[in-house]
Amino acid sequence: MSPPQDPGSHRSSLGRRGLCLVISAPSGAGKSTIANALRAAEPELMHSVSVTTRASRPGEVEGVHYYFRTRDQFAAMAQSGELLEWAEVFGRGYGTPRAAVEACLAGGRDMVFDIDWQGHRQLRAALPADVVSLFVLPPSLPILESRLRARASDDVAEIARRMAAARDEIAHWREFDHVIVNEVLERAIRDARAVLNAARIATARQLGMADLVQGFG
Ligand code: 5GP
Repeated sequence: MSPPQDPGSHRSSLGRRGLCLVISAPSGAGKSTIANALRAAEPELMHSVSVTTRASRPGEVEGVHYYFRTRDQFAAMAQSGELLEWAEVFGRGYGTPRAAVEACLAGGRDMVFDIDWQGHRQLRAALPADVVSLFVLPPSLPILESRLRARASDDVAEIARRMAAARDEIAHWREFDHVIVNEVLERAIRDARAVLNAARIATARQLGMADLVQGFG
């Protein structure tokens, strides 16, 4: 299914700061699929490309899926403040480059973040007015495990690690603004778009609206 594209009607001529849509979920719950569908439907939505110390998987492209860096390079970036947030996930470093986020938000562009609960906490603390968040639950843990096996990009030990991590991730679901169960993909995508579009028209983000309303006399 390819959802209809947004012609960009949300871009008010009055201007507004961009927002950060954080999507978190245990691995295999479908958050990348949902984020990809959102970007296909909403071409102006930018994706925050994270830095990671893990090895690239087949098909992953430097600068598109991740910036792949060594431990030392990652530590230097974290140390120098280049990362807006960073965390250890599955024993590897993952972080969000600061400059791209600041440029996007200032330019009125919205960004989607595929980061874990730790990243969500830090991002919310760093940009309290800019973050709206969505947690994606799998229908059940056995279904999550079968999805991870079907993906076949991870070995058995990695799948076991991700299942243990899934329980930890799920424990944080209440920290998010919105939560959905990804049982029917189309519905999950529709709900994610609803969250994005409601956040775009939140009164607090429509600062330019005051001028418009004043003109009403
Ligand atoms: P994967 O290795 O499957 O691509 O990602 C593993 C986990 O790392 C996912 O839960 C993903 O959301 C999280 N992750 C990816 N990038 C970042 C990031 O920049 N910051 C944080 N905190 N987590 C991230």
